[in-house]
Amino acid sequence: MKVKVDRDLCTGVGNCGAVAPTVFKVDKHNQVVLLDPGSVDDKTLMDAAEACPENAIIIEDDDGNQLYP
Ligand code: SF4
Repeated sequence: MKVKVDRDLCTGVGNCGAVAPTVFKVDKHNQVVLLDPGSVDDKTLMDAAEACPENAIIIEDDDGNQLYP
């Protein structure tokens, strides 16, 4: 799976980093930044995406098809 973030949608809530702190971090501008998406399994990536209230985390399969949201 691949993960992308839409920083325009992110409001800095931080749920993503609570689920997967090695992948998502909120920067000083209250915007999510991607760290190391390969450091967690697919389920954790999906859990983090589902925890985002703004749907700012986009999950795609390896062919680029959007899986979430
Ligand atoms: S959970 Fe969503 S809104 Fe909150 S910091 Fe992460 S990407 Fe941004």
